[in-house]
Amino acid sequence: MIENSPEKKLLDRLEQLYAEQQLPTSPHNACGSCFTCCTARGLTRHAVSELELAYLADRVSPAAADAMRSYVRRERNEAGELRYPVCPHYQEGCTVYPHRPFSCRVFGHFREQGSRLPEGCLLSGSEREFPRGGALSSVPGSSELRELVRELSLYEPAASQAGTVEPGDPHDPLDRALVHVAARRWPEALKELSQGVRESAFALQTLGLVQSSLGDLPAAVRAYARACELAPDSLECLCQLGSTRLFAGEFARGVQDLEAVVARSPEHAAALSMLGSCYTLASDHAGAAHYYERAVRAAPDQPELRLRLASAYLEQQNIAAAREQLEAARAFEATREVAERALLAGGFELD
Ligand code: SF4
Ligand code: SF4
Repeated sequence: MIENSPEKKLLDRLEQLYAEQQLPTSPHNACGSCFTCCTARGLTRHAVSELELAYLADRVSPAAADAMRSYVRRERNEAGELRYPVCPHYQEGCTVYPHRPFSCRVFGHFREQGSRLPEGCLLSGSEREFPRGGALSSVPGSSELRELVRELSLYEPAASQAGTVEPGDPHDPLDRALVHVAARRWPEALKELSQGVRESAFALQTLGLVQSSLGDLPAAVRAYARACELAPDSLECLCQLGSTRLFAGEFARGVQDLEAVVARSPEHAAALSMLGSCYTLASDHAGAAHYYERAVRAAPDQPELRLRLASAYLEQQNIAAAREQLEAARAFEATREVAERALLAGGFELD
């Protein structure tokens, strides 16, 4: 991770949060030899965010984070067995203790009303009970952690929960809006977002998505533009602003935003792809191919980019290059049918 990058700063803030977190403490090893909640069987209440995994990767090793991700996702091997029935970091104690995820720190100390700690948990009876749905306001550090996780999504859109997902706070309109967003209930989401949500880049980014999904592109542009002001280092916000400006008819400003994204991040596949689309719309197929080629190099596992590149090549009568991309797109389940139809339409035989 790059020094002084926004992501790196978030890891430092997470470290600070852990240091300042006021948790119940025990003068001795309160868990004794019990490690139930370090097993897949005891994992039911663990939620580990990509931010915590990035912290583990940075402070321990990327392999340590990968193994933890696999564990919390309960991944199975080819024989259908859990890859990690016990946490990969448990060896007669936690081997990553100073860097362990948040849920490892709080488990056993808190319990939601109506739930139970695992059978035999040595902390049973001394835990603090909190009301249903009240984890964020009752467990110290949890709402601050969520803010950091949300901030990370401004820089890494794929930064979702690696494990189970917390239900959020039913009293928070942004949380309620996010439930509607996940179900694509856009009018309901907008209604929640209109109820005094605290201004943040994340909230505005959510509003931009809702407004654009409802077709109110000028409002979406305003929301994304304000998000960019609040998070000037977020290329995701800038890319969304640029893309939305294109759809809203602000062509020149949209291209300017997207070019600013690729100037700062030359392998930003989404911005490169949008720029390819701009050149396609302008019937500049050589320009489109240039950006799609870069997008394919940046994201070789996104076959729809190959279809767009093939189309740009075909417009230039570069049949061999188009065929090569279509054949590559055939290798992916999601684009196989479209690629095969295009090959047949071009007079090529399928192997
Ligand atoms: S990281 Fe440590 S505390 Fe957390 S589940 Fe693994 S061994 Fe247990
Ligand atoms: S918190 Fe409870 S269940 Fe988890 S290891 Fe400690 S004693 Fe066992």
